Amino acid sequence: MIVIGGGLAGLSAGVALAEAGWRVRLFEQRPFLGGRATSYVLPDGEHVDNCQHVTLGCCTNLDDFYRRVGSAAKIKFFDRLLFQDPQGRTGEMQAGMLPAPFHMTGSFATFAPLTLADKRSIAWAMLDILRGKGRTADLDEPGGISMLEWLKRRKQTPGAIERFWRVVLVSALDEELDRTDARFGVDVFWKGFLSNRTGYRMGVPSVPLAELYDGCKAEIEKRGGEVNLRMPVRAIHIADGAVTGVEFDGGRKESAEAYVFALPHPAMAELASEEMKRCEPRLGELGNIGVAPITGVHFWFDREVMTEPFVTLLETTTQWIFNKTALYGAVNGAGKEKGQYLQLVISASYDLLQKPRQEIIDLCLKEVRQALPASRDAKLLKATVIKEAAATFSPQPGVDRWRPTQETKIRGMFLAGDWTATGWPATMEGAVRSGYLAAEAVLRNAGTPRKFLQADLAADGFVGWFC
Ligand SMILES: Cc1cc2nc3c(=O)[nH]c(=O)nc-3n(C[C@H](O)[C@H](O)[C@H](O)COP(=O)(O)OP(=O)(O)OC[C@H]3O[C@@H](n4cnc5c(N)ncnc54)[C@H](O)[C@@H]3O)c2cc1C
Repeated sequence: MIVIGGGLAGLSAGVALAEAGWRVRLFEQRPFLGGRATSYVLPDGEHVDNCQHVTLGCCTNLDDFYRRVGSAAKIKFFDRLLFQDPQGRTGEMQAGMLPAPFHMTGSFATFAPLTLADKRSIAWAMLDILRGKGRTADLDEPGGISMLEWLKRRKQTPGAIERFWRVVLVSALDEELDRTDARFGVDVFWKGFLSNRTGYRMGVPSVPLAELYDGCKAEIEKRGGEVNLRMPVRAIHIADGAVTGVEFDGGRKESAEAYVFALPHPAMAELASEEMKRCEPRLGELGNIGVAPITGVHFWFDREVMTEPFVTLLETTTQWIFNKTALYGAVNGAGKEKGQYLQLVISASYDLLQKPRQEIIDLCLKEVRQALPASRDAKLLKATVIKEAAATFSPQPGVDRWRPTQETKIRGMFLAGDWTATGWPATMEGAVRSGYLAAEAVLRNAGTPRKFLQADLAADGFVGWFC
């Protein structure tokens, strides 16, 4: 069995197939595992994530994967999400005593950045999602509708759109509301905030991301497999509608009974030959799936400037500030000095792509100083900006029609990756789902079916009675 790509999709497929008794040979082009959800060491020795990654309680497959590879304890879960507007007003989202779907009622009622009219309009839209159990009739319109259109149809106030829907969804889906299929947006609220009490809990790694994958190599090697780094695949060979091998630098060829290609979709499109596209036309359609950017900004201050583990800012370019020093604890050198390391996240950061790094640093520093009074006198020791132009696939209306299933018409060829048909947006959960689905497809084809995909969190509270 050959797996190409050592991101979450390839790793989850590889670990699942190894567990099913297959000898897995995984090939990754980079010198480390984790793909987009990884970390690396800067020339000055600092460990930085390729942007902060967070998970939610509703990400059941990612949770299962972390358990399989022994990383679950490295994720810290938080029950309280904190929001702050430019006027310094704060709001929280935290489950209270009431059962779902009313568990957020207390937080929502006291959420200062929203007016009563904003809250009333949001409550009506939530009721609509509840009534449809996560599906409203207009989600099935041909070609899909945008989230903005969905909100307008439900007469959401400008404040509700800007200070609530946009804040949650741009971060969760990495796209602006007018370019997001409403199906994904509604799903975030159904799975994360309405159907049960724990779906919204935010999980943040307490170690640099690359350390989450330490157990993967061992799991694969335990069953006689291997993980090969710095091994980019340069060509895929097919004959008579079946994969016959993959080619690496220097003309080295490897073959296997089955292949899982767990590459980002632009890389897969590049490797797909005309013959492959003839056999599997969906490979020729990958160009229809767009991409969206995320920018991460890293600040190291000479002193403590925040005490919260993270905060969401409203109506600023900076969307999230993560207090990496607090999240890492003693890891990554934190605690050795009195300084503090913050990581800022800006999703759908189209406006920043062309801006010089120093301009981004100046802009974000101004916002941090506005939001965190303790940072005003602090000295910024260093700063780094990491722009990912193709961070995720863009969840545009109707995008699902271009997402291929994990099983293809080419014999021996299986696909994985957050962009394949999982029903989920581009997330770590989506990537693991795709890996599990690819592993299931391999096993089904081999006549030894086995299930890896985990069920969604069950609806609970009053919602549980009706679902
Ligand atoms: C900045 C940023 C922030 C994000 N934040 C979050 C978040 O907070 N929460 C969340 O859930 N998701 C987040 N995501 C999305 C998440 O990282 C991805 O959805 C997920 O990691 C995708 O995994 P994958 O395995 O499908 O693809 P990838 O991680 O891209 O893995 C593909 C792998 O294939 C390798 N590869 C490519 N070409 C070749 C080749 N020719 N030969 C061999 N190997 C090759 C690549 O090096 C890579 O390791 C974020 C993404 C980015 C970029």
